[in-house]
Amino acid sequence: MESQQLHVIFVPFPTPGHMIPMIDTARLFAKHGVNVTIIATHANASTFQKSIDSDFNLGYSIKTQLIHFPSAQVGLPEGVENVKDAISTEILGKISRGIMMLQHQIEIMLHDLQPDCIVSDMTYPWTVESAAKLNIPRIYFYSSSYFSNCASYFVRKYRPHDDLVSEKQKFTIPCLPHTIEMTPLQLADWIRVKTSATGAFGAMFDSEKRSYGTLYNSFHELESDYETLSKTTMGIKSWSVGPVSAWINNDDERKANRGNMEKNIGKDSELFNWLNSKPNDSVIYVCFGSLTRLSHAQIVELAYGLENSGSNFILVVREKDKDGDGEDFLHDFAKRVTESKKGYIILNWAPQLMILDHPSTGGIVTHCGWNSILESLNAGLPMITWPMFAEQFYNERLLVDALKIGVSVGSKVNKFWLNIGEEKAPRLDIVEEEVVVKREEIVKAVEILMGSGQEGKAMRMRAKNLSDAAKRTVEKGGHSYNNLIQLIDELKSLKITREHEKIRLDN
Ligand code: UDP
Repeated sequence: MESQQLHVIFVPFPTPGHMIPMIDTARLFAKHGVNVTIIATHANASTFQKSIDSDFNLGYSIKTQLIHFPSAQVGLPEGVENVKDAISTEILGKISRGIMMLQHQIEIMLHDLQPDCIVSDMTYPWTVESAAKLNIPRIYFYSSSYFSNCASYFVRKYRPHDDLVSEKQKFTIPCLPHTIEMTPLQLADWIRVKTSATGAFGAMFDSEKRSYGTLYNSFHELESDYETLSKTTMGIKSWSVGPVSAWINNDDERKANRGNMEKNIGKDSELFNWLNSKPNDSVIYVCFGSLTRLSHAQIVELAYGLENSGSNFILVVREKDKDGDGEDFLHDFAKRVTESKKGYIILNWAPQLMILDHPSTGGIVTHCGWNSILESLNAGLPMITWPMFAEQFYNERLLVDALKIGVSVGSKVNKFWLNIGEEKAPRLDIVEEEVVVKREEIVKAVEILMGSGQEGKAMRMRAKNLSDAAKRTVEKGGHSYNNLIQLIDELKSLKITREHEKIRLDN
């Protein structure tokens, strides 16, 4: 009865923060009886294929269809196919051009495979037309919170940041259930001022409205007010099926393979021996996601801040953070903290899920990328919030003001992620010294989060409660579990209706 099985095609966008949760969601669909195809280029597929093979060997119907990244045409070396590989605007431009050129191959594949539904990354508005041609539903995959989508919607609609006397002046975001204040400096450029990027984002938002609905990697218990707001006020049908990463990567092997970029760091590695040697809840994990690049000045402040806090810590730095002066500084810093056994430095890619779930880890310093937030939450960890770019400043407000499980380090400026490492002040109203978060602020935040004070204790308790809710929601009968089953059932009925309609028309 192969033809009766629902066939869903997933089209991920090649950046870890979008691709990782979409692959996990695709695997969840397969685990619940759907025939799943993921379309990806070679180098990107190699980061998740191990998990797909393992699911396939367990009997799930899931496969990857490879397409060719036009490296030569855009002037890139083989294997540079992911946004995270960009170390300059020039390379980013080439990667983006290569990604845009994939459209034709994807359209041919969609036509050949004739799926029953397309789950598309939010950044591919053209998949609305692809789905329309095939007369099938298109689901918009949003890779952040309901909160950020609602906040961004009302900021765009009412522009409460226009006409303030300074870019540092606070404004309140209208129509939200909580009082949420931000400054214009914390908004992304494309929304703060009207730039050409508004056009690309406009097409994306328009494609959400023209989709069958939106899929969120979130869960009801976490942001139900905003889930309701997005469904009612914004009028967009949606399903929250998260946290997907914890749901599908539920043992050590799966956690280690998840988003695997390089070699596996296993449980018997130096890193985990170091973690095992630390008391429970004593280590703070510091990671700014897959894209952010820190300036040398910021690395210095961060390093001294962590060292002066007296806490044990794991710091993830990128190879590209080490330019120039940074190289010697980081080398000396790593040597010092290795000797004192206070710190552990990871270059490039950390096995984040395994670190967060380790009993010695007691908190995280995060750039407020949505996946890192959900993963920390699932592990019951409170957070130091240090947003850098895009919608991360909204996510910070969710953690600090609404959920009260975050301490803000006081990040002031939203910069394009590739320019975060640049020393020059990005905006008129702010000088470089204000862009860099100072060591004293880092020490203060770590002391609140990891210390024995009331504020830290209360945050840890709330984070623990949310972690329990995150675990319950993906169990049989939980909200996310039910939402996933309901969505799959709905897609099956649409398929049957379509087939009946076809038979009727053929006769
Ligand atoms: N990640 C990881 N190891 C790293 C850096 C990131 O496993 O060293 C994963 C992290 O667990 C998360 C994703 O990459 O799933 C990053 O997504 P997020 O939304 O947190 O941030 P972004 O990279 O999009 O800024």
